[in-house]
Amino acid sequence: MLSTMMSMPLTITALMQFVDRVHGKSEIVSVTHDNPQHRYTYNEAYKRTRQLANALRALGAESDDRVGTLAFNDYRHFELYYAISCSGMVCHTINPRLFPEQLEYIINHAQDRFLFVDPMFVPLIELLAPKLTYVEAFIILCSQDDMPSSPLENLYSYETLISQQPSQFDWPELDENQASSLCYTSGTTGNPKGVMYSHRSTILHAYASALPDVFGISAREVVMPVVPMFHVNSWGLVYSAPMVGASLVLPGPKMGDGKSLCNLINDCDVTMTAGVPTVWLALLNYLENSGDRVPNLKRLTIGGSACPQMIFDGFERLGIDVHHAWGMTEMSPLGTYNKPQLWEFGLSDDEYLRNRLSQGRPIFGVDIKIVDDQGIELPWDDTAAGAVKVRGPWVTAHYYGQDIASDFDGWFETGDVASISPDGLMRITDRVKDVIKSGGEWISSIELENCAQNHPAVAEAAVIGVSHMKWAERPLLLVVVKDGAEVSQSEILQWFEGKVANWWVPDACEFVDSLPHTATGKLSKKDLRDQYANYAWPVAETV
Ligand code: ADP
Repeated sequence: MLSTMMSMPLTITALMQFVDRVHGKSEIVSVTHDNPQHRYTYNEAYKRTRQLANALRALGAESDDRVGTLAFNDYRHFELYYAISCSGMVCHTINPRLFPEQLEYIINHAQDRFLFVDPMFVPLIELLAPKLTYVEAFIILCSQDDMPSSPLENLYSYETLISQQPSQFDWPELDENQASSLCYTSGTTGNPKGVMYSHRSTILHAYASALPDVFGISAREVVMPVVPMFHVNSWGLVYSAPMVGASLVLPGPKMGDGKSLCNLINDCDVTMTAGVPTVWLALLNYLENSGDRVPNLKRLTIGGSACPQMIFDGFERLGIDVHHAWGMTEMSPLGTYNKPQLWEFGLSDDEYLRNRLSQGRPIFGVDIKIVDDQGIELPWDDTAAGAVKVRGPWVTAHYYGQDIASDFDGWFETGDVASISPDGLMRITDRVKDVIKSGGEWISSIELENCAQNHPAVAEAAVIGVSHMKWAERPLLLVVVKDGAEVSQSEILQWFEGKVANWWVPDACEFVDSLPHTATGKLSKKDLRDQYANYAWPVAETV
């Protein structure tokens, strides 16, 4: 029997029109190359969004076209998000930090017809332009006066383009399953892979992520996504914040600078923010060294990589709640979120901390299971670790331009390995490809890295599996020592004693000047494994 309920499509257009009517006075504050603090309201943002939609049409853009953006977090990028998707086109956010060959691949693979580019990326675009097969015009996100001189043809000023357009636009009626935006994962092997989000997946993710035990944002808050808008729609905050009427602070290019972040948080009364560990480390170091404080900031979300304990402790000392989240581009991105349940306040300090440093509980809408090598489901007993599989309305079934795999069983393989406690707390122990298999047993490289990272002399640590005659593989620890710190390799190895199982302690430690990272700032273990493939263990391998 069918229900009596209406079937209204879940579209970003409906969200935009709702925000324009109901939350129009909430603000967007941006840092841009031409203004250190640009302020306007959602009403003004959507007025310019309609002008932009007219400008896109005047350029000749049509339904289903992919329109690329190479831009930081600011109000013009916000306008592009809505104008492109709500016109029935696909907003392809591109990570400008990728290598030029990856950028060329991505832009050609997506067949972007137009590129909207921050002025600072014009030299990059000049380099790429001869190789971009489908791009017809470059629109620089600035006024005519600020246009850089460039030999590029078909170069337009964003402000000039939209200023010529009326502020009325008839948005098309869209199917909720229409593609809305596209983001490529950087991937450490092979070519980047595209994930195509829909209007429906975006809206459902925005609803779920705004819940009290997820971002928990409201119309009385000021939200600052420090995670880039070119990385998984800045974790959906550019949709969920307007949805609930929260004001947005978009920090532009200054996203890794602790002092700028501190000033922005205080100037704009930011109450909630979200980003990767590196960003929070920069802010924490700045606060600790300068004595400056951020009294209005209530909480921050940390994700993208495991949350180091020192970041958790450091911000808690300052009275700021730290919430750990896990997800990936293929999941829009949120999968789990970590806020305590009431009973957890009765735990000992150590148990409480252990729970908070896990990746958190699944959000309703994402089904999670862990499986062994044969694909058999493992119990949620906090001990068994297996490959994490997920499914849900904001999880991709396949990559853009690829068919659904013939053996697809309805679950997406995340590539992560985790255990799950009986009450649903997921603890990521590794990436499937980074797991160290010693004598047939798995060793968690992430847990060893976290442990090493807590040593006061360690700036950064990586653990990889290196082949070993007796055990097949053993862990090798690579450490970047903090400037001015004095420590020996054996002192660092002793640090693990009593903190991890004896047989997990790395067999050797090597000091290095730096560690390789991917374009999204994650450790590139593949490069390290290649580099240390023929590593000679300092002690006899048969011992
Ligand atoms: P990319 O694929 O471009 O590196 P993603 O953000 O999609 O960027 O990366 C997703 C991966 O990042 C996850 O599969 C997981 O391995 C890792 N990750 C994300 N959040 C966490 C977290 N809180 N703890 C540990 N690892 C995480």
